[in-house]
Amino acid sequence: MYPAQFDYHTPSSIQEAISLLTRLKDDAKLLAGGHSLVPMMKLRLAQPKHLIDLRKVPGLSGIKEQGGAIAIGALTTHYQVESSALLKQKCPILPETAAQIGDPQVRNMGTIGGSVAHADPAADYPAAVVALGAELVAEGPKGRRAIKADDFFKGLLTTAIQPDEILVEIRFPSWPAGTGMSYMKFPHPASRFAVVGVAAVVTVDGKGACSKAGVGITGAGTKAVRAKGVEAALAGKTLDAATIQAAAEKAADGVDVQDDPLQGSVEYKTHLLKVYCRRALEAALARAKK
Ligand SMILES: Cc1cc2nc3c(=O)[nH]c(=O)nc-3n(C[C@H](O)[C@H](O)[C@H](O)COP(=O)(O)OP(=O)(O)OC[C@H]3O[C@@H](n4cnc5c(N)ncnc54)[C@H](O)[C@@H]3O)c2cc1C
Repeated sequence: MYPAQFDYHTPSSIQEAISLLTRLKDDAKLLAGGHSLVPMMKLRLAQPKHLIDLRKVPGLSGIKEQGGAIAIGALTTHYQVESSALLKQKCPILPETAAQIGDPQVRNMGTIGGSVAHADPAADYPAAVVALGAELVAEGPKGRRAIKADDFFKGLLTTAIQPDEILVEIRFPSWPAGTGMSYMKFPHPASRFAVVGVAAVVTVDGKGACSKAGVGITGAGTKAVRAKGVEAALAGKTLDAATIQAAAEKAADGVDVQDDPLQGSVEYKTHLLKVYCRRALEAALARAKK
């Protein structure tokens, strides 16, 4: 399949890209790694009249520590996240998540910004973005604004980014000493996308009690969500096997689990969520204790 005809733009600054977006409005689509948009264009599920390629815009790529947080540019590829020494040391759930995306070709071309902006309900990063409490920085004609992860994913392929805005950066706050993190997914055997995916981040204090927890869910519903019931069931508790099991039982609470002939029934996915939540919590806890 070939995409419908389009005009191709290569802005050389964020301002130029925003001007194009503002002028061309709904006729335009931003292009990052192209590994979600181009397949959709080939299937004619998307038929933008204009493509605005962000890859020649300087300053949109890279991973750096900034004001106690880690800032990742939107155009940073999955491979750059997967192989970052800084992230492996400071926020290892992100390389762990990136390594589970697609295949080497997808990871070399696809970008973290493109993934979260696309908001595929089965994408991997959104679970970690929610669990870690990230902020997503969008820039538009009125300047920059930060959007909390909990407010970012609005529904199927829908986010809080406005049509004239570009996602420029994702900021991940640092978590205290005694934190462990883990992302686990049950990949669909054909696509490798997440049938369910669970990101777990837990902090244990000197007495072994859970002082902070973040749990994000992807795959099962129409958007990534925070597993508030799981987090509440962990707060202040000593994380023994029974506590983790009881918390994981709440993994599907607040998730709009979807029935899907290709991905599984509501009952099946709810079961997977509980199992993967328990496993992710156990792995995060083991790392927190190291
Ligand atoms: C074979 C295959 C397997 C895959 N497997 C997985 C998997 O297992 N897990 C997974 O999570 N993903 C998977 N993906 C998707 C992959 O991770 C994509 O790279 C990602 O979803 C989109 O990133 P991109 O940079 O390619 O974005 P693009 O395809 O270029 O863009 C996607 C959408 O986001 C918008 N956009 C892009 N960048 C920005 C920005 N900075 N600001 C605002 N909007 C923007 C575009 O306009 C477009 O609507 C797979 C893809 C393929 C082709």
